[in-house]
Amino acid sequence: MSAMIPQANPGAGYRAHQAEIDAAVMRALRSGWYVLGAEGRAFEAEFARWLGTTHAVGCANGTDALALALRALDVGPGCAVAAVSHTAVATVAAIEMVGATPVLIDIDPVHYTMDPVELAEVLAHSPPGLPPIRAVIPVHLYGQAANIDAIGAVCAAHGVALIEDCSQAHGATFAGRKVGTFGRVATFSLYPTKNLGALGDGGIVATDDADLAARIAGLRQYGWRTHYISDEVGVNSRLDELQAAILRVKLAHLDADNARRNAIAAIYDTAFGARAPARRADAMHVFHQYVVRVPDRAAEQARLRALDVGTGIHYPVPVHLQPAYLGRVALGPARCTATEIAASEVMSLPMWPQMSDADVERVRSALLHSRTT
Ligand SMILES: *Cc1c(COP(=O)(O)O)cnc(C)c1O
Repeated sequence: MSAMIPQANPGAGYRAHQAEIDAAVMRALRSGWYVLGAEGRAFEAEFARWLGTTHAVGCANGTDALALALRALDVGPGCAVAAVSHTAVATVAAIEMVGATPVLIDIDPVHYTMDPVELAEVLAHSPPGLPPIRAVIPVHLYGQAANIDAIGAVCAAHGVALIEDCSQAHGATFAGRKVGTFGRVATFSLYPTKNLGALGDGGIVATDDADLAARIAGLRQYGWRTHYISDEVGVNSRLDELQAAILRVKLAHLDADNARRNAIAAIYDTAFGARAPARRADAMHVFHQYVVRVPDRAAEQARLRALDVGTGIHYPVPVHLQPAYLGRVALGPARCTATEIAASEVMSLPMWPQMSDADVERVRSALLHSRTT
């Protein structure tokens, strides 16, 4: 009997670069400086250079990264923010954290990302009772760019800020540009299972706007511009030196890891034919998740589990149907219909860069096998 192939495996990401990571950790430990220091500054500079923005500001996690971006754009009580329901709950939680009101747009069911046509409709005719929409947060989901061209054009036409949630798409491109370079500001989670993952919590905000970056850097530490003097009310959302040192190592391997994810995806594709995940034209997918639709999902997951293949669901319940949000979150005119169907059918296959060719082949043959039973 062979070992279970997990759906995600952050431990393998550590072991693949263990000597380098251990050395980085020792360097940070011995430095005597543990929060917002030289490692953090170096990581921010290296991340900004890799992404292609002039500024990047580390913070405690991807949810805070969104909340800091919203606050720095003066989005708060009395403002609405358009986002999607087919996402990690964090996207919507961050909007409410700053006191703003979410309005959730349906997805394009082929690419699982925000429908720009419905977004345009909502911006032109805001749902009754909703405060004015001041920002739009499309999510580049599963490793693939949202329709950022169309979404960006709609935001520009209505004068609302575009905040890209890139937490699942570190390195994905659209029209030859990395996601995270299209909006006013972009946010990334650095949670261990993300394409760029710390060995603990982390997040980063990227922008080409120096004033915005400075404001975010203040807000993440009590609103300080100078030590001990709060210019405005801030929070504590700092990235620590250990995580920054680890992330510098991981960043150097990110492009190779994303290429490996694509190679794994290409092999899975052969088991699905026309049912393989759709790639947006003129874009590079980085396969944070390899997601297929399976109408008899529970049975398929059980069949794969019996063949030692782990699967996941991202996400089983759309945000607007979760108990904390049910019945009280504004939806666009499409009522998130495509979102609800997707949530009932999507299934994520094992996807982590250190999978061996033998692991990938085992998953592929399990897929072919399980569908004949
Ligand atoms: C992971 C994730 C977040 C939140 O990140 P945390 O670091 O867990 O706070 C936000 N948005 C999306 C799309 C995510 O996948």
